[in-house]
Amino acid sequence: MMFISSFKIGELPSRILSIIRPHLSTVEAGHVPPVFREPFILTGYRPPDQPWSYYWKTLFHIHNESLNVWSHLLATLLILKHVWSFSQTFDLIEDKYGWSLVGFSLGCFFGTLFSAIAHQFHSKSVWWHNVLFMIDYGGVTLYTFGTGIGCMYICSQRYVYTIMEPVFLPLNVFFSWFTFYVCCIAKLKCASTNNGTRYIFMLAALLVYALVISIPVFARYSECMATPRCSLSSLNHLTMCFLLLAVCAILFSCHTPERLSPGRFDLVGHGHSLFHLLCLVTLSMQMEGVRVDIKSGAAAHTNPSLGNILTAYAVLMSAEILTLVSLKGEIATKAKTETLHWLTIRPKCR
Ligand SMILES: [Zn+2]
Repeated sequence: MMFISSFKIGELPSRILSIIRPHLSTVEAGHVPPVFREPFILTGYRPPDQPWSYYWKTLFHIHNESLNVWSHLLATLLILKHVWSFSQTFDLIEDKYGWSLVGFSLGCFFGTLFSAIAHQFHSKSVWWHNVLFMIDYGGVTLYTFGTGIGCMYICSQRYVYTIMEPVFLPLNVFFSWFTFYVCCIAKLKCASTNNGTRYIFMLAALLVYALVISIPVFARYSECMATPRCSLSSLNHLTMCFLLLAVCAILFSCHTPERLSPGRFDLVGHGHSLFHLLCLVTLSMQMEGVRVDIKSGAAAHTNPSLGNILTAYAVLMSAEILTLVSLKGEIATKAKTETLHWLTIRPKCR
């Protein structure tokens, strides 16, 4: 309030323009460590070794990760808005549907928040780059963990639910942690210039995990096809989510359209920013999908426990934190090697 009252309302547009300045202090790819560089993105990088305040301020400047940060910040707000909307219909503390929605939304919330933080601050140093993107992988696996809870406790087929539910939370914790571990090891072991191999390991682990948590939902397609009066169009809200997730995976890994015209999509429109924007759309579809299934009675047979779901989250997050701590020696060694390499190749004058 003090900030707003310190100048006249008429000055607001010029104040905003003075904050949002394109290209402020950004540099070309050759001026940042190789580990920061993205294939076919030539400009718009933020230099390392600046004060933390610089990276905070870049939130309001245009650089090659502005869309990555803002799209997931908006997604975080969107999830909170959906949770608020859920709370108007379901009792999130006392109602079994509310418990499933809390379990599902928590993973989505952590996933988008950790991603926004990683993209905003990773340029601080090579060490922070490695640590923050491993935290980002933690966010991705928490998001998948939450999606798994949605698949089992909201969108599952009744018979598969009775078979899988007794082991589902431990199974979900294990696959989430294992995927996190594979992503971290791929980040540590694959050279920063060898994104292809790293993406293959990460996507393979995520694909196996996604297939496991999707089993309860896939069973609904089989059931529908075997039921004469059931139309597959009744599952369109779920089909759309699967299609969007598949397109997300393709956009994440193919560096398109920037590979067709390097440098042209540096600030807007490169593959990773499109991937983030599509994640925003996918999250909206998922939120709508779980709402549709609860309203139609598709979740009536489930019996979640909020205590068990929150305990599973606590176990998973503890396991991922311990894994990260156990890798700190390897992270430090990799960061030191990459920093020394950067010091030998960086331009001597700017
Ligand atoms: Zn990202």
